[in-house]
Amino acid sequence: MASYDVIVIGGGPGGYVCAIRCAQLGLKTACVEGRETLGGTCLNVGCIPSKALLHATHMLHEAEHNFATMGLKGKSPSVDWKQMQAYKQDTIGQNTKGIEFLFKKNKIDWLKGWGSIPEAGKVKVGDEVHEAKNIVIATGSEPSSLPGVEIDEKVVVSSTGALELGKIPKSMVVIGAGVIGLELGSVYSRLGTEVTVLEYLDTVTPGMDGEVQKTFKRLLERQGLKITLGAAVQGVEATKTKAKVTYKPKKKDTEEVIEAEVVLVATGRRPYTAGLGLEALGVEMTARGQVQTDGHWATNVKGVYAIGDAIEGPMLAHKAEDEGMAVAEQIAGKAGHVNYGVIPGVVYTHPEVATVGQTEEQLKEAGRAYKVGKFSFMGNGRAKANFAGDGFVKILADKETDRILGCHIIGPMAGDMIHEICVAMEFGASAQDVALTCHAHPTYSEAVREAALACGDGPIHS
Ligand code: NAD
Repeated sequence: MASYDVIVIGGGPGGYVCAIRCAQLGLKTACVEGRETLGGTCLNVGCIPSKALLHATHMLHEAEHNFATMGLKGKSPSVDWKQMQAYKQDTIGQNTKGIEFLFKKNKIDWLKGWGSIPEAGKVKVGDEVHEAKNIVIATGSEPSSLPGVEIDEKVVVSSTGALELGKIPKSMVVIGAGVIGLELGSVYSRLGTEVTVLEYLDTVTPGMDGEVQKTFKRLLERQGLKITLGAAVQGVEATKTKAKVTYKPKKKDTEEVIEAEVVLVATGRRPYTAGLGLEALGVEMTARGQVQTDGHWATNVKGVYAIGDAIEGPMLAHKAEDEGMAVAEQIAGKAGHVNYGVIPGVVYTHPEVATVGQTEEQLKEAGRAYKVGKFSFMGNGRAKANFAGDGFVKILADKETDRILGCHIIGPMAGDMIHEICVAMEFGASAQDVALTCHAHPTYSEAVREAALACGDGPIHS
């Protein structure tokens, strides 16, 4: 039995970042992780492998659609699926080994196995019980299926199975037009799979800015994805080689059936807290199965904290990382803080979609007086040169004070560009502050400046 200042349960982006910050702040720290490798869902079966496949298939798309125009002649590349999987696996390996190295560097003990909390101040891993003055639950989330839909990870898959299909399917039905459905749907569509997305609501990516949603749907459809909105999936019947998906169109009293080789269930994720012993410990949970925490990530049990997908808020790796750092600082007696008003969200399709702060719909609902500055990538020289003129930057600013309230980008490198506005919002900047900042030419970021200019006297290039 060993004794620690902090034991973090879970080695995903929330947990490993928390462990590193705890160690950096001088706390004796261990991290419990039952997978073979550190990094959690994000590195092993989520953000990182999906980005590798998105990158590879985007390259394929460029070769097929734009190379000849640029004078790059020759046969289009063919797909070696096994090699693409190997590249993906290698990307995962480089990242997970990197965390192992950081753990060694920071003298963090990796307690291998699945942890539980038999009583406050104790963490059990396998047969061993360790003492901890502080315990941080960072156990993340798992895919949540629909009632009656059984995921076999072969024909009916979650995002995990979709990342490692044995072969590229001819057809795929994606249930849910959220981030997972559209990212992985894009991957397979670019690989030649006929992809049909069924979404219950009347928009793709629920919760995003309405104009972005409309443009996003149009661009995805232009790329070949079929998107059916207002489709409530009722059930999936699978054989060994294909599946039938039954759905009810919202406006009709009928049932429709589609068949596909693979069905991807991308209808959300739920907190993963099974086996931790939280009920016996008396940890309060929310009605949605999340661990209930206060403003400092503390549960109702002294010395037990929780962060990331296991608690409320957007299920995003970077939100979990920020909470991990902040709770480490709280435990070390410092003032850890997360600004929940400035957490970006990104969809890594092509074009990318990135968003931070409030949407126009939210501002309207709150009755807030605002102005909109919008700029199309068609007016951006760099984007035109790079076949990336689709999309726009939209900045929402307070009508009176000009303070930036939100920003929504659909376009090239949107996920990187959004951070300019995140920093601006952290500093309480006005749209004019951004507009008066010199932006290098020719860059995509000039479109952000132009949108900021559009909140004032107007953009130059439109
Ligand atoms: P999601 O909540 O983003 O989207 C699920 C979609 O499924 C919703 O649009 C919902 O209306 C729809 N749906 C639910 N039941 C349905 C039914 N019966 N028939 C048809 N449609 C139905 O969930 P997700 O895409 O599975 O992602 C899970 C979580 O992981 C999210 O919180 C997401 O933010 C996160 N994630 C983020 C990234 C990223 O940041 N790039 C990538 C992957 C996952």
